[in-house]
Amino acid sequence: MSEAKPRFYSLPSLPYSYKALEPYISEQQLTIHHQKHHQAYVTGANQLLEKLDKARKENADIDMRATLKALSFNIGGHLLHSLYWENMAPPGKGGGKPGGVLADRIDKEFGSFERFKKEFSETAATVEGSGWAALTLCRQTDRLIPMQIEKHNANVYPMFRILFVIDVFEHAYYIDYKNNRGEYLEKFWNIVNWDEVDKRLQQALK
Ligand code: MN
Repeated sequence: MSEAKPRFYSLPSLPYSYKALEPYISEQQLTIHHQKHHQAYVTGANQLLEKLDKARKENADIDMRATLKALSFNIGGHLLHSLYWENMAPPGKGGGKPGGVLADRIDKEFGSFERFKKEFSETAATVEGSGWAALTLCRQTDRLIPMQIEKHNANVYPMFRILFVIDVFEHAYYIDYKNNRGEYLEKFWNIVNWDEVDKRLQQALK
């Protein structure tokens, strides 16, 4: 018997302290990002789900187009942020190069870790406006494919597993790096939790 799951989203706690990613991401930057921005997507998604529940209960009309568009944005924001926290780790534990199955798969797909880093950095640097760079796995080909997500939900390959993300909304780096997305991306490599990305890849390959 599986336990019933909550029918609404909640803000996950971070797997480290708000100071833990310094000097690459400051306590203030991380706190606001988690408590204000991520929380807003959780609240937004839940409000939309409540709106659906209410309309069903009253058998009332609802603007499905606007509701689902907003739901996609807010659920995308919540789930991508949840992964983003997990795929970072304090300097020392994070950073360096991937190992395990991930290292082999990166070499096989991209030729080298350096080539992967170059493609992934450019993916993140060139998101138009706000969005994400993601490393994904296609289950039909078992290929690792970079994905450039606009906002939280556009350009997504359906059914692919998302293994690793970098948030390039300005709210992710503005306090520490102002408008310098390039510097944030360069520093980000020092806090990538490769063990976690490798774990996700191994689960996805099962
Ligand atoms: Mn964000």
